[in-house]
Amino acid sequence: MPLGLDRLGLRPVSQCHVERGDRGGVRLIGCEPEADASARSCRACDGVARVRSSWTRRLVHVPVGQRSTHLLVRVRRYECRRCGRRWTDDLARAVPEADAMTDAAAWRAVAEVVLRSKSVLACARDPACSWDMVNDAVLSRGLGHLVGDERRFDGARMLGVDEHVWRHAPRGGRYVTVAVNPTPRRDGRPARLLDMVEGRSGRAFADWLAARPESFRDNVQVVAMDAFAGYKRAAARQAPRAAEVLDPFHVVQLAGQKLTKVRCRLRRETAGRRAPGPTRSTGAGGYC
Ligand SMILES: [Zn+2]
Repeated sequence: MPLGLDRLGLRPVSQCHVERGDRGGVRLIGCEPEADASARSCRACDGVARVRSSWTRRLVHVPVGQRSTHLLVRVRRYECRRCGRRWTDDLARAVPEADAMTDAAAWRAVAEVVLRSKSVLACARDPACSWDMVNDAVLSRGLGHLVGDERRFDGARMLGVDEHVWRHAPRGGRYVTVAVNPTPRRDGRPARLLDMVEGRSGRAFADWLAARPESFRDNVQVVAMDAFAGYKRAAARQAPRAAEVLDPFHVVQLAGQKLTKVRCRLRRETAGRRAPGPTRSTGAGGYC
């Protein structure tokens, strides 16, 4: 059974199956921590401990095939016979403190959300857990290992910046400023997303640049952007060695919009009625 319990420091002791209506079942694996003699040995006095009590901790684990798998771990509380010191089984290999999802299940959720663009709700269905549990796991791993990994800034000679609507809601901030590294593949690393910060102002971009190390700003040779003057001013102030350029997408978009305006004007002048006009994406087609 490919559960990888040995890597988690757990030993299976029982198994049962619980139905979940039309969603299939959940396999419940009863486990105990692999405890050698040192688990019962007191660190304070080297005395031998007895098991004073125990409780069951339920952990969401990686599904096996189409079936959700949860671990029911019996956690023991020990008490030293000599000095009375108390402690519990160490589950650090299986699950971070206070989490209800094993590390393997949490990283599976991160891969599904980040690499396959699956929704959090869809990711919660397979392991039969809550939306909050998957969301917490993705945020904690993502912030710690992806957002917190400063190596993504290394070697960036080109910088791309643009706005993006990340929330379609009537209230609250709708926009983020997105910074990407369009530097061609180099040293085995592809072009990549660098960061996203709240807002779409020149101030947001300038503050983000100012927060980067001086070596990063000095290494950037080109900053590609749309025609927003705020981004241009921010780049000129924080990365003065870099050249500010319009990116190809916005060059084509602006040219398309201007062409359409001319076409509409000529159409009105010659035929006295409207002509096909711009669309939101490229400035071509549609009606003006
Ligand atoms: Zn002791």
